[in-house]
Amino acid sequence: MNLGDSLLAADTISQADDLSEQFTCPTCKSGRTELFHEVENVPTNSCILFETREEALNCNKGSIALRFCHGCGFIYNASFKQELTEYSGRYEETQGFSPTFSRFHRNLAEEMIERHGLSGRDVMEIGCGKGEFLVLLSQLGENRGVGVDPSALPERLEGVPGAERVTLIPEYFEPRHCQVQPDFLCCKMTLEHITKTSEFIETIRAGLDESRQTVVFFQVPEADRIIRHCAFEDIYHEHCSYFTESSLRHLFERSGFKVTRTAIEYDDQYLTIEAVPSSGNSATGTRAAIDELADLVRSFAERLELHKQHWREKVQQAKSEGKTVVLWGSGSKAVSFLTSLGIADQVDFVTDINPNRHNHYMPGTGQLIVPPEQLVKIQPGLVIVMNRIYEGEISQSLSDMGVSCDVACL
Ligand SMILES: [Zn+2]
Repeated sequence: MNLGDSLLAADTISQADDLSEQFTCPTCKSGRTELFHEVENVPTNSCILFETREEALNCNKGSIALRFCHGCGFIYNASFKQELTEYSGRYEETQGFSPTFSRFHRNLAEEMIERHGLSGRDVMEIGCGKGEFLVLLSQLGENRGVGVDPSALPERLEGVPGAERVTLIPEYFEPRHCQVQPDFLCCKMTLEHITKTSEFIETIRAGLDESRQTVVFFQVPEADRIIRHCAFEDIYHEHCSYFTESSLRHLFERSGFKVTRTAIEYDDQYLTIEAVPSSGNSATGTRAAIDELADLVRSFAERLELHKQHWREKVQQAKSEGKTVVLWGSGSKAVSFLTSLGIADQVDFVTDINPNRHNHYMPGTGQLIVPPEQLVKIQPGLVIVMNRIYEGEISQSLSDMGVSCDVACL
């Protein structure tokens, strides 16, 4: 065997390893997974702010290949490439500028404080973003908070009331971060960004003493709605992992937790789970739930095409009437909307209430993100709301500015 052969052999082996890794469910390790949805050439960082249109158009692109696991009902993007994602300070994901979201966030903090007696306690958040939720827990219950997130910006909390009890650590989570055992550990809208789902939950479990009975709270996008209603705007590269109630419960149970509560909230968009450390491994999994999801997965492609056609026609109709088309909301849903439909050139502007996003450009398609006040000058004919939960506040803003136009909600 010459050197060339040995290199080739090594190459073949590593490709085979890659493939079997892609086909193996990251949650339950079953090999019975099935590909059901593919999208090519999608921006890999839909929350990154681009300073120039050229930079936005030339952003990193990747692909989506959703697989469904017949063993536990978990759905994941087998084409996800961690190396193409960036969670740095440039990552601008906060929804704190929306009154609807702020109200929801505050209610959630109050609910957690009440249900779990969080007053003067130690709380931890993994994937804490800019730390808004920890600050709320500190303000409302005088709790001490530790936040772990590679995109954390500790300096943004300077001078914020309540933030004196909050420490942000700009790192990926490791068990050593639990040196002070938390009474409450939360992780919101983060698990969907993680490929090695069971390793991640096991790492958290490894940081916790069972005797402390830390309450662990997770919140993720609810995937049954996405598959059932073909919510294609909620499928994007950063989200590599998609859970239903049944598959999320399964993941926690097999990773050393006892599940105490699950719920679906925020207009059916969020799924939450509460659990405490347990020494038993009691993974149950509901066959009926998995089989029902399997049926929805099987008919997904056909139903999705009809749904996408509806939105293409809506935009094309507005353009044929000479109307200016604006998307309201410049986050991941908008990126997915623009890249999935093949009509990005017919959308003129994107607006957002988050001032940090203004005068930047949409990844992949290059629309300018304008402040909402600019709509007075732009006079859109059609505004498409990327998240219907904000319909009320957006319609109110448009009417306050005296902008009269058609409003459609995804
Ligand atoms: Zn599985």
